[in-house]
Amino acid sequence: MKQHFINNAWVAGASHETIAVLDPSTGLQIEEIARGNAIDIDRAVQAARAAYEGEWGRLSAAERSRLLYRLALRLQDNAEVLAQLEAADCGKPLKQARADAAAIARYFEFYAGAADKLHGETIPYQSGYSVLTWREAHGVTGHIVPWNYPMQIFGRCVAAALAAGNTCAVKPAEDACLSLLKVAELAAEAGFPAGALNLVTGYGHEAGDALVSHPGIDHVSFTGSPNVGKIVVRAAAEHHTPVTLELGGKSPQIVFADADFSAVVPTVVNAIVQNAGQTCSAGSRLLVQREVYDQVIELVAAAFGRLRVGSSQMDLDCGPLIRQTQLQRVQKFLADARQDGIPIAGQGQIDAAAPKGGFYQAPVLFKDVPPQHALAQQEIFGPVLSAMPFDDEADAVRIANGTDFGLVSSVWTRDGGRQLRLARKIRAGQVYINNYGAGGGIELPFGGVKASGHGREKGFEALYGFTVLKTVAIRHD
Ligand code: NAD
Repeated sequence: MKQHFINNAWVAGASHETIAVLDPSTGLQIEEIARGNAIDIDRAVQAARAAYEGEWGRLSAAERSRLLYRLALRLQDNAEVLAQLEAADCGKPLKQARADAAAIARYFEFYAGAADKLHGETIPYQSGYSVLTWREAHGVTGHIVPWNYPMQIFGRCVAAALAAGNTCAVKPAEDACLSLLKVAELAAEAGFPAGALNLVTGYGHEAGDALVSHPGIDHVSFTGSPNVGKIVVRAAAEHHTPVTLELGGKSPQIVFADADFSAVVPTVVNAIVQNAGQTCSAGSRLLVQREVYDQVIELVAAAFGRLRVGSSQMDLDCGPLIRQTQLQRVQKFLADARQDGIPIAGQGQIDAAAPKGGFYQAPVLFKDVPPQHALAQQEIFGPVLSAMPFDDEADAVRIANGTDFGLVSSVWTRDGGRQLRLARKIRAGQVYINNYGAGGGIELPFGGVKASGHGREKGFEALYGFTVLKTVAIRHD
């Protein structure tokens, strides 16, 4: 049974109720976590406030940097333990869980290096004045983390918030939080002052809602679904709390006839199969120029045919989905598509050795998907790729921009002018040219437009979001 982590100590939940943690690879219970409520959240926020006004708040940027770096080293040393926890909790293949463990260490390393390089400016103004700007921490930041990449998303927002001088109260996802409880313990071992980093586990509508509507929270970073994002913004608005929203996507990969297909195919397949398609930035739409459409679909379909699905320990191409209801949701999309006559071009296979109770879905490639169909418009959050043809640049841009989302996109072409024309016209937070996702890109600002959210995380840009700019105007003549 796992408790909350507040003030560098394990703390029993106020209600003593628990939530069962299942391994998606088997469907079996592996742990229990505390079902946090508003009382637990209040404790965490008060602990974070005391640390902000106390020991943590008094640290210099260089001292914060050293602590973050010490945690990065602890994370590296414990990478295998963290990867095993994440693999069992999320069902992801071990190689993905290991990549996520490396990524969280890298986030803390990156932001350790950035902490003492964040500074304001001086601004020329009227004669007799000196004007400067300071980047100040918000104070106590609240973080809502989803289950698909607990370590990566925690690293992304919490490392940046701490580097900027904030203290944190975190509500990880009820479906997967075991690795993060271990990370909090490692932070205490690394020497973090009590209260700098606090975790309360529990459901979104209980602990999550209590966190984002708490008057003691000075900034919220939310990563999750577009619908819950709206609820969070409304709750935070009660206290005028600023919110960064990292929401979903329906990201297109646009392949022109002159592209290098040998590079396109593995990248396109990986971008939808990674984490069983449960990735906000999954490349879930494939747009191919009509003259090479059949050829590219055939290549991608053949690659889908080789995909194997199994448990996290089997470490195949694809693991299970997070839970039974997510599997049912994905299967409903597939059943509707079949009824609408959308052709399946290729399919992977669930390995015969995969445990029977797991939440497995074989990857599916649909072709000739009408751009307005649900398969091409809605975030499925499963290993389902929707392919469709386009005629020319204008058509590609129209289809690419024709959803509610705007998170990531890619353009595959050797034509340099076309690369830049499309990069300008596509409405998305990131555009990749002849690649996709760039290996996670901790250094690269990330975030969406439209229903994909607002605000930016990752890279140095995240530090601006986790600070408030103060202008100081001094009249001296
Ligand atoms: P979700 O919105 O259901 O849950 C996300 C988190 O919000 C969980 O911790 C949950 O407990 C919490 N939550 C739920 N209701 C809440 C409430 N009323 N108040 C406060 N917190 C609440 O989403 P999910 O199913 O966990 O994750 C899948 C979604 O997240 C997808 O849409 C995906 O695209 C998106 N996502 C986006 C990014 C990104 O960076 N843009 C990254 C990962 C996932």
